[in-house]
Amino acid sequence: MAQVRLESIGKTYPGGVRAVDGVSILIEDGEFIVLVGPSGCGKSTTLRMIAGLEAITDGEIRIGDRRVNDVAARDRDIAMVFQDYALYPHMTVGRNLSFGLLRRRQYSSRLRSLLSGSYRANRRKETGAISDRVARAADVLGLGDLLDRHPRELSGGQRQRVALGRAIVRDPSVFLLDEPLSNLDAKLRGEMRTELRRLHRQLGATMVHVTHDQEEAMTLGDRLVVMKDGIVQQCGPPVELYREPVNRFVASFIGTPEMNFLEGVIEEGGVFTSGSVRIELPKGRWPSVSVGQQVTLGVRPEHLERVADSDAMFTGEAEVVEQLGDRTDVILVNGNHRMTARIASGSGLREGDSASLRADLSQAHLFAVDDGENRIATK
Ligand code: ADP
Repeated sequence: MAQVRLESIGKTYPGGVRAVDGVSILIEDGEFIVLVGPSGCGKSTTLRMIAGLEAITDGEIRIGDRRVNDVAARDRDIAMVFQDYALYPHMTVGRNLSFGLLRRRQYSSRLRSLLSGSYRANRRKETGAISDRVARAADVLGLGDLLDRHPRELSGGQRQRVALGRAIVRDPSVFLLDEPLSNLDAKLRGEMRTELRRLHRQLGATMVHVTHDQEEAMTLGDRLVVMKDGIVQQCGPPVELYREPVNRFVASFIGTPEMNFLEGVIEEGGVFTSGSVRIELPKGRWPSVSVGQQVTLGVRPEHLERVADSDAMFTGEAEVVEQLGDRTDVILVNGNHRMTARIASGSGLREGDSASLRADLSQAHLFAVDDGENRIATK
C-alpha cells in the first residue's frame, strides 16, 4: 500500500478547458478518500491523472516515494474500477479475474525464463500463485460459487463485485474507483457501500473513490474532497464538512435535504432581517458582523422544529408534506421565502396548513455575500 501525494496538479484540455486547477491533496497510506462534487467539477480528470490515463498539465504526482508524472499507467501499481464494470463478456468470472494477471505474467515470465532457461517450471509456479490470488479474492467478495458463470448470468451487484475482484487480485498499492456504484439500484448501492467499507478495512488499502453523490461520499470516505470548477473547496472528515462547511457551496452540497439559505442584512441589536423574517441572533456568536452587513443565514432542515406561532421565527404555508415514516419533510412557503424542515412525524400537518418554525441557532451558519461566500467565523 502507498501514500499518494498530489502537488498543485492541473489539467488544461486541448481547446482550453481548465478541468483541474491547483489541486493539492496528501492521501495517507491506507486511507479511503472520496472526491465529490457536481458533474463537470474535475473529479474524474483528477482520478484519471492519478491513474496515468490522462497526462497532467502542471504539478506533480507521487505514489509512495516515486514521482509518477511520466510513468505509464501499467507501471504505476494501481488498479482502477469503472462504473460500467468493463468485464470480458465471453469469459467466465474466474477467467475475468485471472486474465489480467496471466497476460501480465506471460511477458515477464517468458523474459525471465529465457534468461534462466527454465520456462516451464517458472510458468507452473506463477500460474499456481495466480490461482491462489483469484481464490482469495473470490473468497473475500463471496464470488466462490460464481466462478464458472459468464457476466451475462450475473446481477449488476455481482458484476460490480467481479470488477472489484479483478482489482483485488492485482494487489495494487492504490485502488482508484470511478463512480463504481452509479449503475446499481438504490438498495444494491447501499449494500455495496457497506461491502466497500468492509473491503477497505480488510485490505487496509489506499482507496480513491469518485462520486457525485454526497450521501455515498459521506458514508464511504475517511475524508472527502469537495470540488467545484476544478478547484478543491474543502477537504476533511464527513462530520467536519457537515458541521463546519467553509463556504456556502460546501454547505449546500453536503447534507440532505439541502440547507436553507436566507439572504438578508444585520440590523441594530444584532437582528437578522430578510423581508418579513426577523431573527434575533445569539449575542456574540458572530463577533465580526456589523450593522448594515449583507449576509446569508444557513439553517439545516434538521435544525428546525415546529413551534407555537408565538415562538415562531418563520411562519408559512405547507406546500409539500412528505411522510417518511420516522420523520416528515415539509416545505413551507411565505412570499419569496421557502424553508424545508425535517420535523417529527405524527404532527398531522397537511399540505395547505399553516405552520411555524424555530431554528436552533447554535447550529446555524452565516455566510458572507461576496464571490467566495465564505462562512463567517463563530466565537
Ligand atoms: P467530473 O468527473 O467531475 O464530472 P470531469 O473531470 O469529467 O468532471 O470533467 C471536468 C471538465 O473537463 C468538464 O468541463 C468536462 O467537460 C471537461 N472535459 C473532460 N474530459 C475532457 C476532454 N477529453 N476534452 C475536453 N474537455 C474535457
